[in-house]
Amino acid sequence: MADSSPPCSRCNEPLSVTGASFSVACASCGQWHTVDRSGPVLVVKPFGEQETEPAEAAPPTDASGEERMVPPELLQLDMDWERERKRHLVFGVSGEVDVPEMITPIGVGVALTGVGAYLFYQSAGASLVSRLPGLAVIAGGIAFAIYRIGKARAYEEAYRRYQGRRRATTKPPDQ
Ligand SMILES: [Zn+2]
Repeated sequence: MADSSPPCSRCNEPLSVTGASFSVACASCGQWHTVDRSGPVLVVKPFGEQETEPAEAAPPTDASGEERMVPPELLQLDMDWERERKRHLVFGVSGEVDVPEMITPIGVGVALTGVGAYLFYQSAGASLVSRLPGLAVIAGGIAFAIYRIGKARAYEEAYRRYQGRRRATTKPPDQ
């Protein structure tokens, strides 16, 4: 067998393994090694050390039904959504920012339109200028409802997109 020079386990200097020797001392640091020639490749092991292999870092398993770590891409997804969500929030009836929904703007729009219609018909026969406030209230009520319903729909769509992305991320890898 040709001479071989695997690195020393302690100082990494090449070990000079000659002939058929079954042990070798490092010329640099003096660490003894046993020489294993049973395999196709010559293996040197530091002499006097435990034979036990260092426990390999086991790959994380989720087969046991254990709680899995939240994958970072999921955290990123949630953070992105939280940011996107804030852009959709509107002022609710209580004055607090809230998720936009459709019931309130429809109610407010109908109420304002009713008030406007009342004002408009009350002022029948008066000059057009004095009838304008009623028309303005009607227009305001409709515009408010359209604006807020649009916001609610945009929010719902964004939320659905977020849920879809989340499902795609949390989908089990197999099957
Ligand atoms: Zn050495």
